[in-house]
Amino acid sequence: MAELYYDDDADLSVIAGRKVAIIGYGSQGHAHALNLRDSGVDVRVGLREGSASRAKAEEQGLRVVTPTEAAAEADVIMILAPDQVQRHLYRDEIAPNLTEGKAIVFAHGFNIRFGYITAPDGVDVFMVAPKGPGHIVRREYEAGRGVPVLVAVEKDASGNAWQLALSYAKAIGGLRAGGIKTTFTEETETDLFGEQAVLCGGASQLVQYGFEVLTEAGYQPEIAYFEVLHELKLIVDLMIEGGIAKQRWSVSDTAEYGDYVSGPRVIDPHVKENMQGVLADIRSGAFAERFIADQDAGAPEFLALRAKGEQHPIEGVGRELRKMFSWIKPADSDYTEGHV
Ligand code: NAD
Ligand code: MG
Ligand code: MG
Ligand code: MG
Ligand code: MG
Repeated sequence: MAELYYDDDADLSVIAGRKVAIIGYGSQGHAHALNLRDSGVDVRVGLREGSASRAKAEEQGLRVVTPTEAAAEADVIMILAPDQVQRHLYRDEIAPNLTEGKAIVFAHGFNIRFGYITAPDGVDVFMVAPKGPGHIVRREYEAGRGVPVLVAVEKDASGNAWQLALSYAKAIGGLRAGGIKTTFTEETETDLFGEQAVLCGGASQLVQYGFEVLTEAGYQPEIAYFEVLHELKLIVDLMIEGGIAKQRWSVSDTAEYGDYVSGPRVIDPHVKENMQGVLADIRSGAFAERFIADQDAGAPEFLALRAKGEQHPIEGVGRELRKMFSWIKPADSDYTEGHV
């Protein structure tokens, strides 16, 4: 069984007694900075001079300095810039200010797990990773609730790193829902696997194939869109509420029987072998290497794949059809910014 932590297991005064830097003000950055501030923690946000996020952070009452200044002032430095940017930021702006007794914090273990960042001796390294996009982390905190967090300590140089990690997790509201103890290795490998095999990669490919099979067989694209994309959310919501069992209970017996006989026919054991191959590439570092090499070259593969994805016919059909849904407000587009 996993080890769980709640508000009573943490002391808010530990993080409230430190100076915290939040580097980056995107999905996670804004939520961590505002929640910490509202929990009484001394926070500054580190952003580049020309960053568009500067005005937003200042408007919300936060003090904004450069990442270098933030790292120099603070003794707890949370890096919430994109994963592929973190090691440059670390080398140029954080490492020169990472003196003994300070702590460096992550919301995803990528750079530590694959060796792109190695903290010096005498520095605590830990992770507080909310299991939800930043705007939900902020929204739930304001509502008096919280989003569950993963907590891990990679290096406990001070002997106090767990106390500090749990205190940070409490201050962003995470321990109201619960914290789960993990390691950088487990969090990184399972997070990458989940998004590649099931949540992003698996689900996107499944939807595209479903759309292609129906439209190639002559059915109207609008009808195909409804059946293979739009209704996916309704099914996933049922799974979140009560597992796969509740989803099966809620749908018709016809749908449930079709699930049993056709699911394993579509997603056959070969797919499981493919997933094992994906996991092997994550664990060996091959995926990380490919991603970082492409990013360092200006992301030609990444941008070409993004452009190709946007050309899929399901996107154009969806753009038109979504105008029919008055309740899908522009604000919902925030969800698309969330990384998993
Ligand atoms: P994001 O892309 O939403 O925001 C990144 C921020 O970093 C932006 O504000 C940008 O201005 C800033 N930035 C970019 N380059 C910078 C630089 N050179 N110097 C300073 N700031 C710079 O990122 P995110 O989704 O919040 O991800 C941050 C971290 O949180 C990642 O490690 C990610 O894996 C992790 N995480 C994200 C989510 C999520 O749902 N978004 C959930 C859990 C963990
Ligand atoms: Mg149907
Ligand atoms: Mg039923
Ligand atoms: Mg994830
Ligand atoms: Mg992820």
